[in-house]
Amino acid sequence: MTKPMIQPLLKLPTTTPSSLVLLALLLLPFSAYSQESVKRPPIIDVHVHAMKHNPAFSSDLCPWFLKNMPVGDPNQPPPSFINTDCTDPLKAAQSDQEMQEAVLATAERLNMVLVASGDPEILRRWHKAAPDRIIPSLAISSSDEMTVEAFEDSLSSGFYKVMGEVAPQYQGVSVSDMSLDEYFAVAEKLNIPVGIHMGTGGNGMANITSPKYRASLGRPFLLEDMLARHPKLKIWVMHAGYPMIDEMIALMGAHAYVYVDLAGFIWSYPLEEIHAYLKRLVQAGFGKRILYGTDLMIWPKLIETSVGVIENANYLSYEQKRDILFNNAVRFFNLDESKFR
Ligand SMILES: [Zn+2]
Repeated sequence: MTKPMIQPLLKLPTTTPSSLVLLALLLLPFSAYSQESVKRPPIIDVHVHAMKHNPAFSSDLCPWFLKNMPVGDPNQPPPSFINTDCTDPLKAAQSDQEMQEAVLATAERLNMVLVASGDPEILRRWHKAAPDRIIPSLAISSSDEMTVEAFEDSLSSGFYKVMGEVAPQYQGVSVSDMSLDEYFAVAEKLNIPVGIHMGTGGNGMANITSPKYRASLGRPFLLEDMLARHPKLKIWVMHAGYPMIDEMIALMGAHAYVYVDLAGFIWSYPLEEIHAYLKRLVQAGFGKRILYGTDLMIWPKLIETSVGVIENANYLSYEQKRDILFNNAVRFFNLDESKFR
């Protein structure tokens, strides 16, 4: 569908005489020159949704909009899920093609690899256009979606490398409920890493958006029975169980192989709150088990917005930022680091 977007090292007009090119290069400020010519250090985004365009869900977005939790009344129309009242809202893509081109161009420019799940057709298109930039992930949250056999076949086909987003919380079901147990057993057997939604879903999830959603079913401790049944299963907790930091830290302490991602809350809650949560995770000693994730949906610029939160975290060293943005994911997903150079 889309041609692979290969960025030239230096974008020079081909008609310019070479002496002028040289002069122009010499006159370029060093920072501009280096930005264009040097490949950025790689980033792995472990939480991307490849969604089909839906006109009913296509409005712009103000990052950190939950800094003012809406007020409302059950007998009045519900508050809107997303706030667009800011000076520079992020634009929603208005077609599948626009989204694909924007996301893959960003991934190329920022030297990113995206672990993506979602609409199978969209995911295959993205993967076909940029096979080195997309790691396909198979999302399943309920046994109604797919039989265990079909699930195992899909994972064995080789296209999907990851299982997630697994989000039974939205169905009012615990992650340790036996209805998903055989699926986790398949992932354990095939050594497929699993991303599980725990914690936040945004404002009014239970009574505005998803009636079966329960905040209490996002408690990180609910993972324990499932983990005990599957000792070889490799999981990461999506959204880092926000805002249940104490349970999250206790769970990671008791279960040595559990990682977390920062997706979703990194662009929706107040910045001070995000930094306090991330800082606490690092302060508690888990800097090597934090993965970068956006929770990208329909706003392409959300990637830069969210990566910027990590880049601007002045309490993190350069090495700690590299761990979060790249090194931890390479270790967690057993990726070949030499492929990123
Ligand atoms: Zn989620």
